[in-house]
Amino acid sequence: MSKIGIFGGTFDPIHHGHLITAQSVREIRGLDKIIFIPTYISPHKTNVKTSSPEDRLNMIRLSIQGVDFFEVSDFEINKHDVSYTVDTLREFKKFYDEIELIIGYDNIFKFYTWKEPDEIMNLAKVIVLKRKSSQPVEFIDKYVEQATFVQTRGIEISATDIRHRVHQGLPIHYLVTKEVEKYIFEHKLYTEEI
Ligand code: ATP
Repeated sequence: MSKIGIFGGTFDPIHHGHLITAQSVREIRGLDKIIFIPTYISPHKTNVKTSSPEDRLNMIRLSIQGVDFFEVSDFEINKHDVSYTVDTLREFKKFYDEIELIIGYDNIFKFYTWKEPDEIMNLAKVIVLKRKSSQPVEFIDKYVEQATFVQTRGIEISATDIRHRVHQGLPIHYLVTKEVEKYIFEHKLYTEEI
C-alpha cells in the first residue's frame, strides 16, 4: 500500500525551497510520493491577490517534470472555491490508505482554527516542517502534541521575495527552476505592484 505526502500551498511561485524540502521530507518519512496541491484561494489568504490558479499549476508541472516521486493535483483548483484541507483529505483517502499532511511550522500553532482539526488528524498524520531558524514552540495543545516535527534542510527562499524581486527587475536565477523562470517572464507575472 502506498504512503503518500500531501503538500499544499499557494505556490506563487513554487521555488527551490519547496522542492528541496519536499524531497527531503519524502526521504525522512519514507514516502512513496509527494503530491503538490495548489490551493484555489487559501482560507487564510483570502485578502491576498495571487497569480491565476492555472499559472501556479503550470509552474508546479514545469518544476516536477521527469521526477517520478512528485505529482501535482488540480483537485482544489478545480473546485473554484475556498479549499479546506479536511475536504481534500477526505477525497484523497478514497485512493490512499496512508496520508501524511505536510504543513509549515507556523501552521501548527494555528491548527486549532482550521476546519475540523480532529478529523484532519484522523485522516492523516500531520508532519510539521521545522527549520533551524524556527522559533521555539509557542504553546502546546493537543494538536502540537500529536504532530510529528521534521527537521528539514533550511533553504531560506520565499515566494514573496521572488515576487518582489521580479517586480523590482532583479534576477531570480537559482531561486526557481529555469523553466519556471522562463514561464514567469513569458507570462509577465509579478510585474504589477504586489
Ligand atoms: P509566500 O511568501 O507567498 O507566503 P510561501 O512559499 O511561504 O509563500 P506557500 O507557497 O503557501 O508559501 O508555501 C507552501 C508551503 O511550503 C507552506 O507550508 C510553507 O510553510 C512551506 N514553505 C515555504 N517556503 C519554504 C522554504 N523555503 N522551505 C521549506 N518550506 C517552505
